[in-house]
Amino acid sequence: MTQLPTTTRQIVLASRPTGWPTPEDFRLETVDLPELTDGQVLVRNTAMSVDPYMRGRMNDVKSYVPPFQLDQPLDGGAVGEVIASRGDIPVGTQVLHGLGWREHAVVPADKVSPIDTARVPDSAYLGVLGMPGLTAYAGLMAVADFHEGDAVFVSGAAGAVGSLVGQIARLSGASRVVGSAGSPAKVQRLLDLGFDAAFDYHDGSVTEQLKQAAPDGIDVYFDNVGGDHLEAAIARLNLHGRVAMCGAIAQYNATEPTPAPRNLALAIGKQLTLRGFLVGSYSHLADEFRSRMTDWVAAGLITVDETRREGLDAAPQAFIDLMRGANTGKMVVTL
Ligand code: NAP
Repeated sequence: MTQLPTTTRQIVLASRPTGWPTPEDFRLETVDLPELTDGQVLVRNTAMSVDPYMRGRMNDVKSYVPPFQLDQPLDGGAVGEVIASRGDIPVGTQVLHGLGWREHAVVPADKVSPIDTARVPDSAYLGVLGMPGLTAYAGLMAVADFHEGDAVFVSGAAGAVGSLVGQIARLSGASRVVGSAGSPAKVQRLLDLGFDAAFDYHDGSVTEQLKQAAPDGIDVYFDNVGGDHLEAAIARLNLHGRVAMCGAIAQYNATEPTPAPRNLALAIGKQLTLRGFLVGSYSHLADEFRSRMTDWVAAGLITVDETRREGLDAAPQAFIDLMRGANTGKMVVTL
């Protein structure tokens, strides 16, 4: 019988970042693994997710997810293999669960979901087939009420959520798909993925660039960024346009209040809908999403980008780099 580990390594929150996170805000620790009790499984994590929402959890503020605790391990999406079980999940099962930022996790069996890795790598369940994928699908289809013929603009378009929003819109009959991202290479990538137009938001006013990229206006804006992008989209939205307010990454590391769109009152005359959402409220769409997305990926209709970092030691820097735009597609850390 293979020897089970008695210790594991994990990343704890050493200090709460002020503004941009730094490597000193994280600490790598080796800890003893507890004995399994009834109903628990031991998972050897093979990949973990770093996500923008984790930045909010590093602040000691009340939010829709509880804050991380100082000197306690971080958590988040992870995939791995069950290597010991006192629950109804057999040893050898590949699973998705919520205890990332560690090499091994003791998890209640009812908090892990078996995954099928026959046709896709396990890390797909952290991205295209996981939370970011459902965010893109639900945000576009249900929150923004996408209809065939809509012109769609998505910001953060080369990232995990954004790159899928654009591709789903194109596959679903959008009349035009426009994306913004943070480098010339990312702009080229968006064009390769089938976006009709794309621009680098560093190249000048977002409002002006969006005007050129969408001369006939837009019907849907999928907002990952907030700030100047939201203002530009409001200016460009057509009558009865819809905004899915998904994220506001431009302000996650801000230490001062950030400006709101100065043209918000345009929403009245244009009869716009601006709707915030959390992916957790759309689990009723998860089965439909996973089935459609699996087919699209298997048929080669959706291209999946992933940026990989290796080893738990690399996880803090992977998170910091994600906030600075080092990733194309989903940022994952393989363990
Ligand atoms: P991601 O887009 O893969 O990574 C974050 C990206 O944000 C970076 O690659 C960077 O790309 C961009 N960025 C950073 N600072 C920026 C700035 N000041 N202006 C414009 N872009 C900036 O991350 P993701 O996981 O797909 O998440 C995208 C957004 O969705 C985030 O706002 C996240 O919080 C949100 N989200 C919301 C939900 C929900 O339930 N509402 C669920 C998942 C994610 P560039 O190189 O292009 O700058």
